[in-house]
Amino acid sequence: MVEIKLHNTKTRKKEVFTPIDASNVRMYVCGPTVYDRAHLGNARPVVVFDVLNRLLRHVYGEEHVTYVRNFTDVDDKIIARAEQSGREIGQITSETTQWFLDDMAALGAREPDHMPRATQYIPQMVLMIEELIAGGHAYEAEGHVLFAVESYAKYGALSGRTVKDMIAGSRVEVAPYKRNPMDFVLWKPSSGDQPGWDSPWGYGRPGWHIECSAMSYELLGDSFDIHGGGNDLMFPHHENEIAQSCCAHPKGDFARYWLHNEMLQVEGRKMSKSLGNFFTVRDLLGQGVPGEVIRFVFLSTHYRKPMDWTENMRRTAHRALSNIYEDFENALHNFHSEVIKERLPEWREENLPKPSPALITALANDLNTADALRIFREHARQADVASLTDQQQVLANGRFLGFFSSNTLKPAITAQLVADLEGYASRLKELRDKAIETKNFANADAFKNILTEAGIIVQISKSEVTLKQGPDFDPSKLESLK
Ligand code: AMP
Ligand code: ZN
Repeated sequence: MVEIKLHNTKTRKKEVFTPIDASNVRMYVCGPTVYDRAHLGNARPVVVFDVLNRLLRHVYGEEHVTYVRNFTDVDDKIIARAEQSGREIGQITSETTQWFLDDMAALGAREPDHMPRATQYIPQMVLMIEELIAGGHAYEAEGHVLFAVESYAKYGALSGRTVKDMIAGSRVEVAPYKRNPMDFVLWKPSSGDQPGWDSPWGYGRPGWHIECSAMSYELLGDSFDIHGGGNDLMFPHHENEIAQSCCAHPKGDFARYWLHNEMLQVEGRKMSKSLGNFFTVRDLLGQGVPGEVIRFVFLSTHYRKPMDWTENMRRTAHRALSNIYEDFENALHNFHSEVIKERLPEWREENLPKPSPALITALANDLNTADALRIFREHARQADVASLTDQQQVLANGRFLGFFSSNTLKPAITAQLVADLEGYASRLKELRDKAIETKNFANADAFKNILTEAGIIVQISKSEVTLKQGPDFDPSKLESLK
């Protein structure tokens, strides 16, 4: 069996991964708060843990991994969004949840086995809070229930901080009803239009952290293998999850391996609205950047390093991936054609070989995705495009890494963009036809130049004009044509 090594935040070491039960490897990843489109940074943990999910399934078997990622659908940011927009909370959360799933699917991320929503687990949270109170780890004060951090000696162990450091370094909410400023909210009162549930402490709603403890316990048990998320969640969110879970279920050890991805930046700077470099996954997809190109850029940086999203990287990734798509055009056509697969079973997914061992070895080394990508590209370069075995191997490697979702490298948002491109193609065709008649090509060439300068690949045959987005495609340069 392949030996997987993972860097465990808990021990600060790269360790050999040994699951509690190899017939059911269990992973929990903190998911999004659903009130808006996912920004590009939110997609990083999704892609990172998608790769880990694929690797675990490869090693332990498709049926022997349980991957859980939650949706936080009760939160003050959601309440605020509902108030601003005058819309129902349920409408906002269900709409944004679907957006998230669509956008992440465009990045080639497989869906987890369970995607629990916090509001569906309120009774489990209430039960857990009752257990914490009974065990002397939580107390009620002014309609709130607070976790008493002093009751858990190992508080701060994950991030390696002392309680004193934590108070100094964070914006802890000071409230008169807290015994210790570090104590955090398990339950709080709701009023008016705020969402709420009846509880032993009155009508209210859970604090943020308790949901992950309650849902992971329900779906994965009191001890499971891997817990993941961005490193901005390490403190306080993950410290609080550990404190709650270990105090409510002292026999279990909650999560054994903690994995944290580093943050994503844009052109070397923190992504923020004030710097004007904030954008969502959908913004990029809407500009015609194929989801697989975004994925390719993500995989080129190791998850424990800060990753920089740059125009240059996007372009390079688009070019690299386009080349592979072009070289394996026939293989991809066969693989995606139901008619061909019916006749030639060698093109069916289940008949592809396993991904190359070197690629698996790279990923098994603490998810060295950059190395895995390099191996994928090298194999594609060296492959004999006329050899069935070589073609199948490149397909298998690409599919495993989450590429080749279609027979060409297509933008995810096709409708508007495809319609625009079709419109430009027929305009160019008309101009060409007229030019041939009048022997004056000036207008046709000028139009073609605008397209080429916007990064569109223009192919002209006697009967047809086809336009494809090239790696330098920049839709803003087409504005003058609208
Ligand atoms: P949130 O909805 O803010 O709780 O974030 C959802 C997930 O996205 C969490 O796992 C965060 O750690 C992660 N995340 C947020 N911002 C970034 C970023 N700039 N880079 C990488 N991950 C991020
Ligand atoms: Zn969580």
